[in-house]
Amino acid sequence: MSTASTAVPAPAFQEPAPTPVSLLLLGRTADPRSERGVECPGDLPPASDPDLVARAAAAKAKLGDRLFILGHHYQRDDVIRFADVTGDSFKLAQQAAARPEAEYIVFCGVHFMAESADILTSKTQQVILPDLAAGCSMADMATAEQVERCWERLEDLGIAERVVPVSYMNSSADIKAFTGRHGGTICTSSNAERALEWAFAKGSQVLFLPDQHLGRNTAVRDMGLSLDDCVVYNPHRPDGGLTDDQLRDAKMILWRGHCSVHGRFTPECVDEVRERVPGVNVLVHPECRHEVVEKADYVGSTERIITLLNEAEPGSAWAIGTELNLVKRLATEHPDKQIVFLDKSVCYCSTMNRIDLPHLVWTLEALAEGRVPNVIEVDADTAHYARVALEQMLALP
Ligand code: SF4
Repeated sequence: MSTASTAVPAPAFQEPAPTPVSLLLLGRTADPRSERGVECPGDLPPASDPDLVARAAAAKAKLGDRLFILGHHYQRDDVIRFADVTGDSFKLAQQAAARPEAEYIVFCGVHFMAESADILTSKTQQVILPDLAAGCSMADMATAEQVERCWERLEDLGIAERVVPVSYMNSSADIKAFTGRHGGTICTSSNAERALEWAFAKGSQVLFLPDQHLGRNTAVRDMGLSLDDCVVYNPHRPDGGLTDDQLRDAKMILWRGHCSVHGRFTPECVDEVRERVPGVNVLVHPECRHEVVEKADYVGSTERIITLLNEAEPGSAWAIGTELNLVKRLATEHPDKQIVFLDKSVCYCSTMNRIDLPHLVWTLEALAEGRVPNVIEVDADTAHYARVALEQMLALP
């Protein structure tokens, strides 16, 4: 199955050092196209204000059906309690689109999620991110300029026509639009295998953006490709750090991006929890590294993790490798099961956690007073091609 060059053998998979992503301190810069965020204007109420819950509830009640609050599964409890619906990013964007009467969609998630909601909702709806500094380190690892440079390289090599871009939902609107322009599809962690099957029926190579782990895990674990069929394109190295032969011969060209939360779990975490909790079922998200996924008993998207725990036998033990807010909530909801976090250290999504109660109160009170802060708006051309790629995902067989 390996198609690696004989001249320059493809290296066995090795976890690369993390891409340095410096989350800007409190998002104090001005780059609205970046997932790294921009300054959050206005005076926030102090986190110590004992009336924050009452203030959020009052502003929400005043806005009534004009307001719809979306809460991502990884969001903190004091914010998620105000969400009208919870879910993963795609489900939330669809829910917002299904509520045309809601003028204001407050997205308690991160920047790329709010962009997706803006792309899928109508022009009469405004999508608001309570803290513009809530970006996503993974989405930030693939910029439009870097991906265009990569594509030019594929064109220069004469292979772009046979390469199909498949981009994870966790990417900026620019990357989704790139995908739509070049005949590709978006995927979620639930349908990545179907997306790859579709892509390989259309072309002979896939450029998978931006999460190398989801791409590798799906190709190798679910579809039977070998690790040698995959190469990693590093946008920080000349020519992506790959020879012409490596690019020509690879089936999967994986972008060198990863989730800083799921990337923390190691094979040692799995060994340690198996010793600590006899009979434990290890359940991890496919954004985890390949060697972690290989050691786990179950692998599943956030929605799949929730379903598996709902269906699990009382008394069973589970170690979960995903964001800590969700794991803690699942442990509270299933007191009849032993649910532990896969890592021994704390592992929140720090950017998602920037949406806290003071930011939510600040946002809701502004809306109740007739001001609309922190609107996320994707330009028409980008939104059009991003929608093309999203619609292709909905049309996957
Ligand atoms: S959990 Fe990972 S992929 Fe999800 S928003 Fe946070 S950094 Fe991005």
